[in-house]
Amino acid sequence: MAGNTSIQLEKSLSPESRALIEKAGELAAERRLGIYLVGGVVRDILLGRANSDLDLVVEGDAAELAESLAREVGGRLVVHRRFGTAKIRTKHLVIDLAMARSESYDHPGALPTVRPGSIQDDLARRDFTVNAMALRLDPGDFGKLVDPFGGQKDLESKLIRILHDRSFIDDATRMLRAVRYEQRFGFRLEASTENLLRQNVTMLRTISGDRVRHELELILKEERPEKALKRAGDLGLLGEMHPALKGNGWLKKKFEKAREVTSVPPPALYFALLTYSLGVKECEDFIARLRMPRAVSRVILDTARLRERVLSLDSPDLPPSAACGLLQEYSPTSVMACAIASDSALVQERLHLYLDRWRHVRTSLDGNALQKLGVPSGPRLGEILKALHEAKLDGKTRSKEDETELVRCWLSQRR
Ligand code: ATP
Ligand code: MG
Repeated sequence: MAGNTSIQLEKSLSPESRALIEKAGELAAERRLGIYLVGGVVRDILLGRANSDLDLVVEGDAAELAESLAREVGGRLVVHRRFGTAKIRTKHLVIDLAMARSESYDHPGALPTVRPGSIQDDLARRDFTVNAMALRLDPGDFGKLVDPFGGQKDLESKLIRILHDRSFIDDATRMLRAVRYEQRFGFRLEASTENLLRQNVTMLRTISGDRVRHELELILKEERPEKALKRAGDLGLLGEMHPALKGNGWLKKKFEKAREVTSVPPPALYFALLTYSLGVKECEDFIARLRMPRAVSRVILDTARLRERVLSLDSPDLPPSAACGLLQEYSPTSVMACAIASDSALVQERLHLYLDRWRHVRTSLDGNALQKLGVPSGPRLGEILKALHEAKLDGKTRSKEDETELVRCWLSQRR
């Protein structure tokens, strides 16, 4: 099937991508360096799926080659000499070039020690067989598959398989990556891979919060993240992040609803739904473990706190101004999370009204206008503005004239 890969290459790559990798192949050949397309894009070409990330590996100086390539095709070049990597951005494409390297791990969870190596070494340090294939780009053998671990066969059998038994110990983030690919493609974990994963779930503790969070964020970028979360829950991986996290049917329903309401839900919204059943203290632990950035933490904690108070919205006579008074303390994304999570139709309706309308309501008169009407500056002015705002929310005023009249009435009462 190695011959077939050239045909599929045409199907999966844009003419621009194809021209670019051909050029890279020619430049590398002039320098007598091996050059390959690697990783996810090769897997996706074989699956006939679109993928616009071009990852290239060069057996030699990738940075120098990237400089020549950028001169030929145009585009912005960023070189990281220390890592032997470079990135070229053209109008439509991003190309990553890296020097082929071999890796070893000093201890579980450590970042690997890196040395220059061959394409075989470079593929051997990868996560799964289906991600450990390369396509040759040299003009002589353009499009020929390099597949030392049987990735193509595993693609056909729909299996996610690690390359060696220590893989999850070396880098436990691979356990989260495994369920992400498994669920994205509708594959299965290969039996011994699944056993090793189950045996090593606690190795997730060796991974820094930033790295665990990054993998979780990648899961949340999937089309249907709930699938990988369910699997991660069943395998005990979610429990390793926090014992109270669940990837159950409730979460599936709520994630689906989140996509109905916002089409592409922001990660913070998904995180808030994932942690919805946790109390404030539990959320704080989860936030600390994953070193959540401030904006996401705020949404998670706001949701945990608001959850305790939304039931007060469940009364039919509560005026909009009172609902706004309660909700304005909380970030809009946390209000959205509670709207999605709540089981009460009235609460949901109120929260959506708040998000869509109430929170945008502004009075016609501002502070200047009030002063012209004779309101002295000072605390009284603030109180009147607030009262006007509430009157508008509750439908007691409809126009600037209504507001003016109300202010005049208040002023005359004061006298
Ligand atoms: P996606 O479609 O999700 O982008 P991808 O395969 O391109 O999938 P990346 O995260 O972009 O995944 O990584 C590129 C390649 O780097 C992978 O295909 C894999 O070969 C390798 N890789 C990434 N993370 C790891 C890891 N933790 N351990 C080993 N290899 C990894
Ligand atoms: Mg990728």
